[in-house]
Amino acid sequence: MAEVEVEPRWLKSVHTHGLDHLGLQVVSITMYGDLLPGLTNVTDRIRYYSFFPWILHRYAKDVRSTSLAKWREHLRRAEFLLALIGKWHHRDDSEGGEAVVGADQAKKVLDAMRSAPTKSWRLSKWTALAKAGEDGSYFANRNGGYGQYYRSVLAELGLITIEEKDPGVGLGPDLGVKIAELCDVQPGREEFWTAVRDDEVTLNLVEELGSHLCPCALTSFDEERAFLANLMFGPDRTTGVNTRRRARSLRLLLAMLNQSDGVDDPVSEFRHVAYFGHTTAGRKYVAPPELQHDLVKWLVYEASEFVHYSLEQAFLAVLARLKTVTPKEAALESFLPQLAQESLSASSTTLKLGRDKRPWSSRTLGDLLREAEANQQPLAKNVDDPWGEMSLLPNPPEDAPLTVLARSLGCLLSVLARNLFPPKPFSFFENLDTEFPKRYRVNLETVRDFVQKNLDTNAAAAYTDILSNWVLGQHIRVAMRKLRQQTQATFKVAVEEGRYVWIEDFDPTFTNPRLRQAFRFLRDLGLCGGATDGWRLRSAGKQILEVPDAK
Ligand SMILES: [Zn+2]
Repeated sequence: MAEVEVEPRWLKSVHTHGLDHLGLQVVSITMYGDLLPGLTNVTDRIRYYSFFPWILHRYAKDVRSTSLAKWREHLRRAEFLLALIGKWHHRDDSEGGEAVVGADQAKKVLDAMRSAPTKSWRLSKWTALAKAGEDGSYFANRNGGYGQYYRSVLAELGLITIEEKDPGVGLGPDLGVKIAELCDVQPGREEFWTAVRDDEVTLNLVEELGSHLCPCALTSFDEERAFLANLMFGPDRTTGVNTRRRARSLRLLLAMLNQSDGVDDPVSEFRHVAYFGHTTAGRKYVAPPELQHDLVKWLVYEASEFVHYSLEQAFLAVLARLKTVTPKEAALESFLPQLAQESLSASSTTLKLGRDKRPWSSRTLGDLLREAEANQQPLAKNVDDPWGEMSLLPNPPEDAPLTVLARSLGCLLSVLARNLFPPKPFSFFENLDTEFPKRYRVNLETVRDFVQKNLDTNAAAAYTDILSNWVLGQHIRVAMRKLRQQTQATFKVAVEEGRYVWIEDFDPTFTNPRLRQAFRFLRDLGLCGGATDGWRLRSAGKQILEVPDAK
């Protein structure tokens, strides 16, 4: 028998770009954009928020050229030098050197530099634009990791301004100037900049600058650290709405760490806690009262993720089936009813959910929902609960397509049976207008309403509707829209001559709500410890929790 899977399934989540084949992920992404504004899934280290303004400041002072090419040259050398420093500082693979821009190339270069620590090298050897994207260049995007990952959030936060004129960027007049000047007087900055300007570096210098410039060294510089903490949490009650939202989510993360003694994977733990209200160890999580509203938003996000992921898995299973049937069996009028019937020939017994031996296809949706309600374990004990959302998530390829389909329906019902989310779930999100649930027609609310309306409907008939409207029909609508708007063909299935035709598969996925980055930020700010000794709150993090929230 295969090893028991002990890891929560959302560990496997992958960030995808424009591969939202059912138009469901956009709903999740909109929600977490509201929950954690000012960072993204690719802004991994908060010290880049001060690093780039400082580089810009130095460049403006010393080079004073408006040439875009010149700016890029300096930017790229600076970025790569920082990668060398970070990777050398953590050459023993200790925590804190991860996710620096250009890491792979830096490691290779350091291997070469190692043999001659005093030898002088040209940074441009690895950063020159002529080589952009070619083997030997650290980063394909001409504007480096700055352009690819950080520019838009830095602008959003007021650290930089995006300009029409070359070089296309300016220092934010208030915050940008302030942080650049704070950094400029730190030890090591002069040497760092000189190396960038003169295009010349030695391993000895890389080593010397580790304790000053490495992203992990932020906690050694109080003023810079306080500035960045204020940027994330807001200094006072005058703070803008995005800062307040971000601060409240970050405080929920700190509160979660405060109630556990060392967590291996804080992202999975928080996602679990947000939905179930209990830690994976079964302990109740108590959110600070002023953060209750935000916790509900996270719960709605997680409930949506269960529903979205189940529907994506159902879609993939439908595609798998479509590949194997004859043209006649793929006929529009009979393919889905037949598939729903067959997949729901499973019973609660065969799905290991209980003792009821009747096939689901002979029961009503309401009957199945009541079975789920009656059998779900209390929230504290949901980890191994057969009727729990996590257990019911389909798990191909171990689960064959028919089982995936049955479990997908089971998971939807499990979320509804648990009934944790509020009647108007999206009204909790300030950035979602009232039209939102109508614009994105498959969502937590519509799924719930459909099931409520169809409690007396035969489960196979209802599932046929779901697969037809919210899976295949929804996919074709989404793909048509992409074709019209982006002239991009993303069809996984087509309708030809009265039947469905398989085109290709795809990878169902959870979305990534920026939590990995948020926890790294908290760690880099010294508010919590990281993986090395289990994620846990530090005294600076406790202090933040103790200051009342600025409403
Ligand atoms: Zn370091």
